[in-house]
Amino acid sequence: MAIKSLVTHVEIDIAGKAHNFQASAKHRIEKGDVRLKVRNSRSWDHYCLNCAKKIIERDIKKLKAIQDRLTAVSQP
Ligand SMILES: [Zn+2]
Repeated sequence: MAIKSLVTHVEIDIAGKAHNFQASAKHRIEKGDVRLKVRNSRSWDHYCLNCAKKIIERDIKKLKAIQDRLTAVSQP
């Protein structure tokens, strides 16, 4: 059985055209910008680089915390 990954819903791509991110015009994505794609039900949410870095940083902390808990419970 393949080992399941927790990060199957994330991709990086390059915006084909400029667009605003959801409600916030401050997070405008220009054509050619790298953006983070996050699967959301049947479509994708796109995040600008700054948001992407924050999201990834936060999730790494989250995963680290889970790893720490698993390590703690598996100690003899
Ligand atoms: Zn953003």
